[in-house]
Amino acid sequence: MLSKKIALVWFKTNLRLQDNECLAKAVAENDLIVPFYCMDDELIGTSKFGFKKTGDFRLKFLKESLQQLDEELRSAGSGLVLLNGISEKVIFKLAKEQGAQRIYAEKEVAPEELNTQQKVAGELSKLNCTFSTFECRNLLHSVDLPFPIGQLPDVFTEFRKRIEKTVAIRQVLPKPPSIASPEIEAMNLTLITSNVIADPRAAIEFEGGAKAAHERIQHYFYQTKALSTYKETRNGMVGEQYSSKFSAWLALGCISPREIYEAIRNYEAIYGANDSTYWLIFELLWRDFFGFCMEKNSLRYFLPSSNQQLKSADNEQFKTKLKKWINGQTGVPFIDANMIELKLTGFMSNRGRQNVASYFCNDLQLDWRYGAAYFEQQLIDYDVCNNWGNWAYLAGVGNDPRLNRYFNIAKQALTYDPNNAFQHLWLL
Ligand SMILES: Cc1cc2nc3c(=O)[nH]c(=O)nc-3n(C[C@H](O)[C@H](O)[C@H](O)COP(=O)(O)OP(=O)(O)OC[C@H]3O[C@@H](n4cnc5c(N)ncnc54)[C@H](O)[C@@H]3O)c2cc1C
Repeated sequence: MLSKKIALVWFKTNLRLQDNECLAKAVAENDLIVPFYCMDDELIGTSKFGFKKTGDFRLKFLKESLQQLDEELRSAGSGLVLLNGISEKVIFKLAKEQGAQRIYAEKEVAPEELNTQQKVAGELSKLNCTFSTFECRNLLHSVDLPFPIGQLPDVFTEFRKRIEKTVAIRQVLPKPPSIASPEIEAMNLTLITSNVIADPRAAIEFEGGAKAAHERIQHYFYQTKALSTYKETRNGMVGEQYSSKFSAWLALGCISPREIYEAIRNYEAIYGANDSTYWLIFELLWRDFFGFCMEKNSLRYFLPSSNQQLKSADNEQFKTKLKKWINGQTGVPFIDANMIELKLTGFMSNRGRQNVASYFCNDLQLDWRYGAAYFEQQLIDYDVCNNWGNWAYLAGVGNDPRLNRYFNIAKQALTYDPNNAFQHLWLL
């Protein structure tokens, strides 16, 4: 008798059933699958810059997302195994216990994530368990690009022009209707502790999981039709309607950019396409661009900058400036309001992020990597490619041909917060 094909499916930042290449392939190619998430010790540890790798806002969002993923998996006949510890050790143990011959995982592109992936693949090879990766992050599939990743253009506009008219976006993969698994015990989420409550002034109350992500689409597209004015409002800073707020769900993969793309096309078929509906796709392409840039040359996005003076973190002046920036005590109201919002909610608008990052690099002249590492801790929507890519871009160590992207903060405050509504919200 032939033995059953058993595979592990490693959920990471693709916490969904629909449009999940990993899961779809695993279900199609095996008899039994064991879905799992691993709370790696490093994920709850401290980075070399002295910040937590995952702060409380993201932990809470993650917990909610895992809870819902488990429920959805259970209703399809499966469930989620929650591991914790050192990835290569605990995944090895699970593969051995289950007799898994193959593991399906999301493709990684950033250095630390790749390092973990390589260690896990190395351990599993001792069990003859094959490690296969699948793309789950981007709108575009890398094999559909009209150039090899090594020839990715350095400038976004060139990238966009080369792909926009030539690359077809793949269709959303359906949810597997049923998932055959061995019996999976109830998940113990007490391993993840975060009861943080966002400040009531928060732009939006984020709730983890695919259900809330799809509800947000319904709200932003159909209930308010805010999508039709996105291009005009996207630089706003107060309230839930100025931008989509999809970022947190995208970052953990509760929803895929292709699901959003399909929803935009459906909306356009009913209410018409305009500059705003196009612009949301344009922003999703920025997201892809940072993902592909990381894949092309990941180390570039973690390099110190040559033009920042206060390099040493042991320097007292460095520590004081960093602390004041984090706590919103720089004395520049526009910067302080944004930093307080981030501290108390885990979110900040794109306009705010650009300004506080520029201020950090150009005005405070601090090593940009500390700013990026604080964002990594604090952001509910932290995404390694988007965060380090955007910071590097502003610090002049990424691909940006204009080396020094300097924002005149006073001018930005006048343009984007002309009545001080945003500053009053957070400073008074
Ligand atoms: C210094 C800095 C750090 C950042 N860190 C992150 C991060 O860790 N995670 C993250 O998702 N975004 C990050 N961004 C990008 C951007 O600020 C956020 O994606 C956006 O503010 C989230 O709000 P939204 O979903 O309402 O955006 P919308 O304006 O509604 O945009 C829709 C989606 O497009 C994508 N997008 C928009 N702008 C960008 C951009 N500049 N780069 C890449 N993708 C973009 C996001 O996925 C976003 O959800 C950063 C930007 C800067 C300047």
